[in-house]
Amino acid sequence: MTCVKTTCPYCGVGCGVLAQPDGTIKGDPDHPANFGRLCSKGSALGETIDLDGRLLAPQILGREAGWNDALDLVATKFSAAIRYYGPDSVAFYVSGQLLTEDYYVANKLMKGYIGSANIDTNSRLCMASSVAGHKRAFGTDTVPGTYEDLEEADLIVLVGSNLAWCHPVLYQRIAAAKAARPEMRVVNIDPRITATSDLADLHLQIKGDGDVALFNGLLSHLANSGKLNSDYINAHVNGFDLALESATADDPSASGLTPDEIVEFYAMWAGTEKTVTIYSQGVNQSMSGTDKVNAIINCHLATGRIGKPGMGPFSVTGQPNAMGGREVGGLANMLANHLDIENADHRDAVQAAWNSPTICTKPGLKAVDLFKACADGTIKALWIISTNPAVSLPDADGVAEAISNVPFTVVTDIMARTDTGDLADVLLPATGWGEKNGTVTNSERRISRQRAFLPTPGAARPDWKIICDVAERMGFDGFGYETAGDIFAEYAATTALSQQFGKDLNLAALTDADYDSLAPTQWPVGKQTRFFADGAFYHPDGKARMIAVTAPELSTGKFRLNTGRNRDQWHTMTRTGKSQRLGAHLAEPYVEIHPDDADAIGVDTAELITLYGPKGKGIFRALISEKVAPGNLFAPLHWTRQLSAAGVVNSTVETGVDPISGQPATKSAQVDASKCDVA
Ligand code: SF4
Repeated sequence: MTCVKTTCPYCGVGCGVLAQPDGTIKGDPDHPANFGRLCSKGSALGETIDLDGRLLAPQILGREAGWNDALDLVATKFSAAIRYYGPDSVAFYVSGQLLTEDYYVANKLMKGYIGSANIDTNSRLCMASSVAGHKRAFGTDTVPGTYEDLEEADLIVLVGSNLAWCHPVLYQRIAAAKAARPEMRVVNIDPRITATSDLADLHLQIKGDGDVALFNGLLSHLANSGKLNSDYINAHVNGFDLALESATADDPSASGLTPDEIVEFYAMWAGTEKTVTIYSQGVNQSMSGTDKVNAIINCHLATGRIGKPGMGPFSVTGQPNAMGGREVGGLANMLANHLDIENADHRDAVQAAWNSPTICTKPGLKAVDLFKACADGTIKALWIISTNPAVSLPDADGVAEAISNVPFTVVTDIMARTDTGDLADVLLPATGWGEKNGTVTNSERRISRQRAFLPTPGAARPDWKIICDVAERMGFDGFGYETAGDIFAEYAATTALSQQFGKDLNLAALTDADYDSLAPTQWPVGKQTRFFADGAFYHPDGKARMIAVTAPELSTGKFRLNTGRNRDQWHTMTRTGKSQRLGAHLAEPYVEIHPDDADAIGVDTAELITLYGPKGKGIFRALISEKVAPGNLFAPLHWTRQLSAAGVVNSTVETGVDPISGQPATKSAQVDASKCDVA
């Protein structure tokens, strides 16, 4: 039976997979992300490829329709909204599940042909704060590290990252390296004790959002203990004095750690040259997310621990193609090829490369604001592609209401019933993993192919094809691609613009490569793969910037709710929910609560708790555990209204966003909790 080399569709590790049409799945021993390893989710992929519940034909108002009717209607409604209300009256909300080719044409249509930047993505919930932090520090959104650095480091510091559950193969790689080199140490900084803590020599149970205070304190400690790299700072860094002044004003005990813990951590960090600081959602999903990122990067810049093997800050992305989305400008505040909407030269260059009739002139609405604009009537036509915001966004009930309020909503999905799809006027069936072709980019900037190995189900079509068909019906040239490979070739050619403006996202060398046989390739292509090795950064003066950041006031509510992921589920369980094996791990929605808090509200093990947010509530099974600190709760986000009549956790979550990145603070929702007497 044919065995196809493809890439796992779940997390940003981007593991290579060998897949057969009968559902046999193995890790690809040749893929440099995983060298044959797979986690529980990846190894169960074969159990998730049946057609149960699949959307196999377009639907208009709940009735099956032909593609021509559905596409004509979508094109007509979007064109009418643009004609009567202007380009900013329409919006796309897309996903880190999309392949780069899908992302590219959606972005091209909205920004270059419709002329609005109202295209945002669920990656806004994943890593927008890292993007903003990178741009502030380096002058561009560049992740400097590689997975090999994690194995070469003598000290791994994990911040807000339950790698064991959320990026399991990276965790396995670090665990294997630590077993081979017992002198390697791991510090886990997390308000919650997690499976990742098992690997840690030191677990620091920080207060939620105590990260800036802790890393500002580290910067002060490095200065006071003679551990700065002054030569590096003088040659390659701006902003040191102000950053240190700000850091010195902060008290590291605001992190909630004891003086002994702080001293031990600072001594380890200061005394270990080869240090990698890994961070993910616990850092990003915060109202101070961008400042947290820069507080971490400041410490690496101040010691010159960046651009060298086994050291550097390392942001790991949650979704399989969050990185690819960043590359093609799939965020409302970015242009393709890491160029800037606010820069007229960048806009002109992208418009010329696309040969498009227009180009957006200002950033569009970021995810939370996009749905507020749906609620207040600004958005007249909305297209949601491959994501389930009525469950996954904060204030989930409000988001569902906002979608209902839009006069015309299209949802493209692989499934016939989702909480979001149920609100659509038009449903369009997409091909899913194993049925479509394209590329994804993982957390270390490695581009890998997803390849089809299954037949196309029903009338489903690839996302790029659906988007291009609508674009052509709206009267736009420039979307006549025959294959995903055609799109990739155009995209790769346009990345030459990146170099034209002094950046390094240049895939032009891949333009002529054989797309079908494209091996996993790290960018920049055809150059050094280690960024910043020469101390050159992307700000106009060639230097990096340390950013002065200040620890935020910590919120004080009754309970602080941290939402996240389980080991064996992915997002709203569209795929992983099909595997009985995966469902056996944690079978129902729950909330983790400290024994003292459980006592205080009179809840015993496995009884039910009602969580109340400012706008919604939900009922969850009590998991009483000392792994969460008193006053803190943890609940997974996976269960939808269709899977749980007791409500979805994001109905209870109402938070602000990081003022720079627009990323919602979904680790720190203020909620109330009480015992629920419903059996
Ligand atoms: Fe898939 Fe991530 Fe698991 Fe790798 S670690 S198999 S990419 S879910």
